[in-house]
Amino acid sequence: MSKSVGAYICSGCSIGESLDVERLAGVAREECKVPVCRVHPFLCSEAGLSAIRKDVTEKTVDAVVIAACSPRMKSAAFTFDPRLVVERVNLREHVAWSHAPREEETQRLAEDYLRMGVVKAQKMEPLEPCVAEVSRAILVVGGGTAGIAAALGAADAGYEVVLVEKEAGLGGRLGATRNDFPHGTPHTELPERGLARNITRLAVHPRITAHAGARVARTEGQPGAFEVTIESGGQHFSHRVGAIVMATGWTPYDPARLGQLGYGASPNVITGDQLETMLGAGPPVRPSDGKPAESVAFIQCAGSRDKNHLPYCSAVCCLTTLQQTDLIHRRDPRVKVSILHRDIIVTGQYERYFAEVQNHPATFLLRGEVSSVTRHTGDNLAVEVKNSSLGETIRVPADLVVLATGFVPNAPNGKNGGSSTPAQGASSGDAGQAASEAGAGAKAAGWPVDPGGALHLAYRQGPELPLLKDGFPGSNFICFPYETLRTGIYAAGAVHAPMDASAAEEDGLGAAMKAIQCVEMASRGQAVHPRAGDGSYPSFLLQRCTQCKRCTVECPFGAIDEDEKGTPKFNPTRCRRCGVCMGACPERIISFKNYSVDTIAGMIKAIDVPGEEEEKPRILLFLCENDAYPALDAIAMGRGRYDASVRVIPLRCLGSLNVVWIADALSRGIDGVMLAGCKHGDDYQCHFAKGSEIASRRLENVKETLERLQLEPGRIETIEVSLDEYRRLPAAIDAFAGRIREMGPNPYKGF
Ligand code: SF4
Ligand code: SF4
Repeated sequence: MSKSVGAYICSGCSIGESLDVERLAGVAREECKVPVCRVHPFLCSEAGLSAIRKDVTEKTVDAVVIAACSPRMKSAAFTFDPRLVVERVNLREHVAWSHAPREEETQRLAEDYLRMGVVKAQKMEPLEPCVAEVSRAILVVGGGTAGIAAALGAADAGYEVVLVEKEAGLGGRLGATRNDFPHGTPHTELPERGLARNITRLAVHPRITAHAGARVARTEGQPGAFEVTIESGGQHFSHRVGAIVMATGWTPYDPARLGQLGYGASPNVITGDQLETMLGAGPPVRPSDGKPAESVAFIQCAGSRDKNHLPYCSAVCCLTTLQQTDLIHRRDPRVKVSILHRDIIVTGQYERYFAEVQNHPATFLLRGEVSSVTRHTGDNLAVEVKNSSLGETIRVPADLVVLATGFVPNAPNGKNGGSSTPAQGASSGDAGQAASEAGAGAKAAGWPVDPGGALHLAYRQGPELPLLKDGFPGSNFICFPYETLRTGIYAAGAVHAPMDASAAEEDGLGAAMKAIQCVEMASRGQAVHPRAGDGSYPSFLLQRCTQCKRCTVECPFGAIDEDEKGTPKFNPTRCRRCGVCMGACPERIISFKNYSVDTIAGMIKAIDVPGEEEEKPRILLFLCENDAYPALDAIAMGRGRYDASVRVIPLRCLGSLNVVWIADALSRGIDGVMLAGCKHGDDYQCHFAKGSEIASRRLENVKETLERLQLEPGRIETIEVSLDEYRRLPAAIDAFAGRIREMGPNPYKGF
C-alpha cells in the first residue's frame, strides 16, 4: 500500500541551533517527496501535536515521521491512533546533543536519519493486534508458602485460581515441621505459623480450586489459552488457564555427597532437615543409642558456597541453625551447642535474633574451615576446625553433628519432586466449574509420564522450563524478576531463587501480579516484557518455507512449534516480539508489519554514501534497543560526543540481525558495520536471553564471506554493552571509526 507520509520536524531543545532545519525540510519535501512537512519550534506542545492530529484526521497523511527527540522520550505525547504508522527520528539525542553544531557532517547525519525514517514509515504497515478470547484463570503449581501466597494474591484480586499440590495436603516444607523465622517485631521470638491461617483462608476462598495429591500431567497452548490436564487419584481434570505460577519449592542438598563431613560413616551425623523432624518429637538424641545429646555441633555451609557442590548461599541455613539452637535450648538449656561456620549470614532485623541466640551461655560460635569429622570416644564425635578464629586447629567434641545443608530447586528439569508435606485437604471453588472430568483421562493415558516433571509442556522445545546455570529457572534476573524462558510461566519462591519463607510469600505475590499482567496483555493482543504493550507479531509466509527449523530452534521462548509435516506453528501469545526468528530465517519469510528485513534494508539504502574522493567514511551501527540504544541516549544527555560518520539503526534485539543487511551495507559502499548488544554467557544480560549470542555466531559466518571477497574482516565488529557501562560507548565507536579510516575506503564503494 502506498502511503502518504507527513514529516514533522521539531526545532526545539537545541535542534534548531544545531541544524539548518529548513534545509532538512527541503530534503523531506524535494528528495523524499513527502506531501506534508512541517517545522515546529516545540513539536510536543499542544499546538505541535494538534497540527499532526489535524493532518491525520483530515486524511492528508496516513503515516507520520516525528523528527524530534529520542523515541524513548515523550512516548505518551507522540502516541496516536494505534492504526496510524508512526516513526520517530532521533534528531535531538543522536544528532544535536552529541555532534558539533552547524557542521556539514552533523547536518548530513540529520538528513540521513530523516531519509531513513521516511523510508521506514513508507514500508511499515498499520498494526492489527492478534486478539483472541483468553482465559484469565491462573494455575499455581505447588501448595507451599509461595504457591499459597500466589493463589491468594491472584484470587483476592478477582482472578480464578487453580492450585495443584502433589502431596496430600497444602503447606509445603514450612507447613510440615518447620517453624517460621522471627520476621515480626521484636525479631527475637519465634512466631506462630501464619501459614495455617492462609491454608484455612485458601480452603474457603470462592475463587480457588485446589487439587491436593495431584500433578500436572500436561500443559498445552499459550498464554491466555493454556489447556492444563491435572491428574489426581487416577482421574483427569482439564482446566483452561491464562498464566501459570510455578512454586514447586525446594529439596535439601543430597547429604550422601558430603562423606567428608562424616555423613554415612556415623549415624550421629545428621542433616538440619533430620534434626527438624527430631525436634518435632522432643529433645535431640543420638541416633546410635537414643541417648539425649548433651552436645550438638552444627557445621554451616555443608556443601554450600562450594564450587564442587552448590556454588550459592541458600539464604536460610544460618537462620535455620539459629532457630534450631534456640529450640534446643528452650527444651534443655544445658545442651552445649557449637556453631562452626565460615560466616553467619543473616540479613536485616534477623540480626537481633542472631544476637539473642548467640548470647545464650551454652552457645559457642567458632569461625573456621571444618576439615574432618571423626570418632572421638565411643559414639562421641570430634569435628576438626582449621584456620579457626582462635588462631589454631580446634577439635570440637559433640554427641550429635548436624550438617546445615543448602537446598536445590524442585522439579523444573524433571529431576526433583515438588513440595512435600502432609497437611490439610484440598478445597474447591468456582473455578471448579471450568474443570471437567475429561475424556482428558483417556487422552492422557497415552502420554509418557515423567513423575519428576512439574509442567509437562507440550512444547517442541521440551517439557520443562529451561534452567539457568545453578538450576533455577529464570530469564533476565536483572530487569524481569519472575520471568522464565517460557512466556506466561512465572517462577516463585525457592524454586525461583534461594530465599526464606517471608521472602517466598512476597515472591508468590509478585509472581501472581506478573501472571495477572500476562493475561491482561494477552487479552489485548499485546506483548509482555520486555516489549510490554507491543501489538506487533511476526507473520510467516509459509508457502516459501523450506522447513529448515532455524526459527523453531532459535526462538528463545519456545514460541514456535512444528506441525506433523515440520512446518512452523506459531503461538502468538508465547511470542515476545524479539525478531530472533526473523534474523534466523534464510528464506526471509518472517516479518512484522512494522519491522522486517525489507524495512531495515530500505533504511540502509536511504543512507547517502559519499564517494571515495570525499574521504568521509560511513559506518553503520546496529544498536540493540534494550541497553545499547538507551546507553547512546545517556551519552547525549551528558553532551558526550562521538564520530559523526556513524549511522544508527536500532534493532529489537541483535538476534534479529539478518546478515543480508550487512551484505547490503557493504555492497553500497558503507565502510564498516558495528553491532552493539547485550552481554551473553552464563551471566547474560540479554533481554531476549540468547539474541546477542546468536548474532555473534551469525557474524562469524559473515566474516568468512568477507575474507572470500577480500574485504578486511575487521570492517565488522561487535561489542557488548550494558546500560550502566554507557560511558565507554563513545570511545568504542571512535576507536572503530579510527580503525576503519586506517583501512581506507570500502573497495566496493561506487559499484
Ligand atoms: S519474535 Fe522472538 S519470541 Fe516471537 S517467535 Fe520470533 S523468535 Fe520467538
Ligand atoms: S526459518 Fe524460515 S524457512 Fe526455516 S522453518 Fe522457519 S520459516 Fe521456514
